[in-house]
Amino acid sequence: MAVRVAIVGAGPAGASLAYFLRGRGVDVEVYEAGPRPGFKPCGWGVPREIEEFLPVPRGVVKVKLRGYRVFLDGRQIHEDTGRRTWGYIVDKPHFLEKLLEGVEVHYSAAVRFLGGEPQIPGCDDECIRVVATGHYWSKAPNYRLLAIQYLVKGFRGEDDVLELWFDRSMVGYIWVFPEGGGEARVGIGGFRGFDELKARLDRFVGRYPGLASARLVRLEGAQLVVSGLRRELYSDQLPVVGEALGAVFPLTGEGIRPAVASAWALARSLAQGSGFWSEFEATGVPRGIDLQARILEIVVRAGPDARAALLSQMPASLMAKITLGKATRRDLLGGLVRRPQLLMLLARYGLVRKDALNG
Ligand SMILES: Cc1cc2nc3c(=O)[nH]c(=O)nc-3n(C[C@H](O)[C@H](O)[C@H](O)COP(=O)(O)OP(=O)(O)OC[C@H]3O[C@@H](n4cnc5c(N)ncnc54)[C@H](O)[C@@H]3O)c2cc1C
Repeated sequence: MAVRVAIVGAGPAGASLAYFLRGRGVDVEVYEAGPRPGFKPCGWGVPREIEEFLPVPRGVVKVKLRGYRVFLDGRQIHEDTGRRTWGYIVDKPHFLEKLLEGVEVHYSAAVRFLGGEPQIPGCDDECIRVVATGHYWSKAPNYRLLAIQYLVKGFRGEDDVLELWFDRSMVGYIWVFPEGGGEARVGIGGFRGFDELKARLDRFVGRYPGLASARLVRLEGAQLVVSGLRRELYSDQLPVVGEALGAVFPLTGEGIRPAVASAWALARSLAQGSGFWSEFEATGVPRGIDLQARILEIVVRAGPDARAALLSQMPASLMAKITLGKATRRDLLGGLVRRPQLLMLLARYGLVRKDALNG
């Protein structure tokens, strides 16, 4: 076990790694370029499954999400408002601060990199440096999309139901994440430039009834890695976690839970001397990311109508499992067996075998 661990970045990956290591009695320090944690624009939405890795303190929960609705070309295609809590909108900076309690964090301390390697004075042979810088790392995967969002006050919509709006003309989606107290985050992510994304988002905001008397407080955005995991970026000499490693669900853009899962795996690997990848694979998160990466490939190559068919014909339960990264190949085949058209579409792109229908 390393005597000391120096983590570069206090996003979800770095902060949770510090939390896990501190819990194991490891001497850990964090270097963060920003003046506080959670600087990066983010929708702050997490599914309950994040609690497989760490507790979400009630004090950081802004909203308990009890349902979602999915729309395609302006028409609702899926709904689950079964009222069970399936996720949260968290106050992300506050959440990260909680994780970092008791950890030595250097804020406004941008670490210099040379050839992709962090230069940390005093971090010698007995000190392990960890890259948790998100997409800012020069070696981070460059298959990315842009995501921008408005912070909104005066939102009049359901406070515990989130909405995803797809449009067959674009790979990506618009989200409406309620935050309680009349606040919301309304954003768009896709493989388009800033001007087009903003124009689409503005059109949406102008038409959405719950935003008619809303005030747009701020527009913010950032790139999002959607390559899937780039396993070659990791080495035991220079461990990499979170978005820097491609640990983001590529279809949904969910990055907090995968970042935490990769940190959880690294903490176990460092403490037990086990392999990072075997620990990470055991969480099931990499498999979910790999599957979403392949589906994203299909979605990108498919034309607008095939994209619409994929979304509208996919059984809701299967879509939920894929979204959460919990779908197995068996689920995929089981869910699609009664949707031969969709199965053929997936087979054409090599996601399932052409003879899958025959068993
Ligand atoms: C608009 C938008 C909305 C999103 N919404 C959601 C959502 O609702 N739910 C979800 O799960 N995911 C969402 N994501 C994705 C999620 O925000 C990221 O995938 C996640 O934050 C990645 O965590 P990370 O710790 O790997 O990296 P980051 O969150 O990017 O953190 C990296 C940290 O490293 C610091 N850093 C970088 N370089 C240096 C350096 N040289 N020295 C010191 N510090 C450095 C940065 O300042 C930053 O604080 C969204 C992304 C965007 C862009």
